[in-house]
Amino acid sequence: MLTFNDKGIYCAQAAAYIDPWAPVERAIITHAHADHARFGSKHYLCHRDSVTLLKLRLGPEISIQCLNYGEEIDLNGVKISLHPAGHIIGSAQIRLCYKGQVWVVSGDYKLENDGISTPFEPVKCHHFVSESTFGLPIYRFPDLHDVESDMLSWIDNNKKNNINSLLVGYSLGKAQRMIEIAGKADLPIYAHGAIVNIQQQLIEDGYRLQKVSYASADLKKIPNPYIVVMPPSALHSSWMKKFTPYEVAYCSGWMQLRGARRRRNVNRGFVLSDHADWVQLNLAITATEAENIYVTHGYKSIYAKWLREQYGLNAVEVDTLYEDDLLMQEDKDDSIQ
Ligand SMILES: [Zn+2]
Ligand SMILES: [Zn+2]
Repeated sequence: MLTFNDKGIYCAQAAAYIDPWAPVERAIITHAHADHARFGSKHYLCHRDSVTLLKLRLGPEISIQCLNYGEEIDLNGVKISLHPAGHIIGSAQIRLCYKGQVWVVSGDYKLENDGISTPFEPVKCHHFVSESTFGLPIYRFPDLHDVESDMLSWIDNNKKNNINSLLVGYSLGKAQRMIEIAGKADLPIYAHGAIVNIQQQLIEDGYRLQKVSYASADLKKIPNPYIVVMPPSALHSSWMKKFTPYEVAYCSGWMQLRGARRRRNVNRGFVLSDHADWVQLNLAITATEAENIYVTHGYKSIYAKWLREQYGLNAVEVDTLYEDDLLMQEDKDDSIQ
């Protein structure tokens, strides 16, 4: 029912693409990250909670239809529904059912409940398209509560030394998690404009999230210590230097690799991931009971081989244009060596 072509994951029967990387007539979007939600398609279909995020990213004029989790629509006889992926707010697995055959496209996902996005739910299917961002046995992420208390004690230590704490991570998804954790530290929280915009939009949409203020030049008048949340693009910028004295920490699943922290030249790395680790990937895939697995972005060939040998699944790797971290390739090389 689904094929993989040069524009994306295609369902000919429904005449729709899932997360296309080229403009198409009808695009079904798993989530609002830039590599999955691209500009130029005529009609978009996504989860209700992705609508404003998609408009923020692609412009307010896009044609967009939305569904709740579990709600079903029919496109030329294909029943389509969205199910929680637990990756970021509004993220969905796409389920397509035609003549008794069920396919599920995961998008990006994680099994851990981050307290912000709707937690992942396994969906039984015959064919499962899975990401494999952290599809190597070395990726076993620490307990979220431990990461949180490590972050808070780092902030607390900086506070005692009258130093500002700078937290770096993606504007959509990671930033909301960093802000919620930082909110427990009893310090003022400022953020980069890109993050404040998203935060304000989500609060307007009804999410009960911490308010953050723009980290503007006025910070000079505000006494240390405070917290600043910023995207990777601002790391080591002259804008960042305004917050001296500071310590800076990067939040990402890649921080499990020593080289990843060193390469970014930051004081600390916290393993805070929006993707499934090795254990979660295996759990999620076996829970679908699918016999056919299509492994996309990540360690796709290694992971597909593992699924064939360990579970006897009909697993193949599939090339896509999804990438979640600009520096990922270097980190990846590091992890395989
Ligand atoms: Zn993503
Ligand atoms: Zn992705």
